[in-house]
Amino acid sequence: MIAVLKQGTTEEQLNKFTGWLKGFGLDVHISKGEFQTVIGLIGDTTKLDADLIGSLSMVETVRRVSDPFKSANRKFHPDDSIIDCSGVKVGGGNFAVISGPCSVESEAQLTGIAKAVKEAGSNMLRGGAFKPRTSPYDFQGLKAEGIELLLKAKKETGLPVVTEIMDAHHLPLFEEVDVIQVGARNMQNFELLKELGKTNKPILLKRGLSSTIKEWLMSAEYIMAGGNENVMLCERGIRTFDSQYTRNCLDLSAVPVLKELTHLPVVIDPSHATGSSKYVKSMALAAVAAGADGLMTEVHSDPLHALCDGAQSLTPEQFSDMMKSVNIIRNALREAL
Ligand code: PEP
Ligand code: MN
Repeated sequence: MIAVLKQGTTEEQLNKFTGWLKGFGLDVHISKGEFQTVIGLIGDTTKLDADLIGSLSMVETVRRVSDPFKSANRKFHPDDSIIDCSGVKVGGGNFAVISGPCSVESEAQLTGIAKAVKEAGSNMLRGGAFKPRTSPYDFQGLKAEGIELLLKAKKETGLPVVTEIMDAHHLPLFEEVDVIQVGARNMQNFELLKELGKTNKPILLKRGLSSTIKEWLMSAEYIMAGGNENVMLCERGIRTFDSQYTRNCLDLSAVPVLKELTHLPVVIDPSHATGSSKYVKSMALAAVAAGADGLMTEVHSDPLHALCDGAQSLTPEQFSDMMKSVNIIRNALREAL
């Protein structure tokens, strides 16, 4: 249920009202926007009399929300959420450019790429330390050492780092990581999501391989229900019937749909979506035009010898070229809107 309060409601009235609501055992979310305050109620609201609430002098409107996602719901939080990733803000007009190799391979590899992507306009560095590989015989990542190398690259470049977690037991290793990525394969690892809900780290939640938008939002809800509202969504392509020419099918319609349904930032990963560096730039530009809040792209200085996902990795030169066009589209949009 949500109640929109009338302008001019005092702090005292608000506290009295929320205190009364909490007495019903409900979680009370307060979203103070520029023009209105929205009270979102989570829990068993069947005990509440909506007509009674609607009759209160400070209440503008009251209505029940039937969507199963509540904290992630834009009805509960009409303004865009802005996620602070160690100083880099994402959402509400702030654009994230997250780039780097699929996997951290060595110090020289990572710092070289980190400097190049920073120079080209990236404001965060990505790199997998724990890698979810389809085959157990493939490179599994440098694990703890990979995280150390990411932190070194962060020290050298000042770029906040994004890296994937696969097991909640590894959380202590992520203490200094700026953004924790939940990969497509773990989008519905509910125990992992619950543990991440207990942290206050920004979480980049990738869409599951064949997940619906509702399932994805419910996974965000798992993290938020635990108290961590710092969630960003990352569309990385979904499985459809054709995998001959592209690795996945980039669902760009997810951008406007999510913008309507949720206040959380939406990041697009055109690398895993297409699986080919040839198509990354076009899809990145389309994502920006569709209104995405950020891009995550894989960049490798030597894609031919990358230990993972070389085919979809841009060289630093290709990345720099992509960024020039991204900035042109962003500026054009700013002028047009
Ligand atoms: C990745 O970002 O390197 C990755 C493994 O992505 P996904 O979970 O989307 O496959
Ligand atoms: Mn990858």
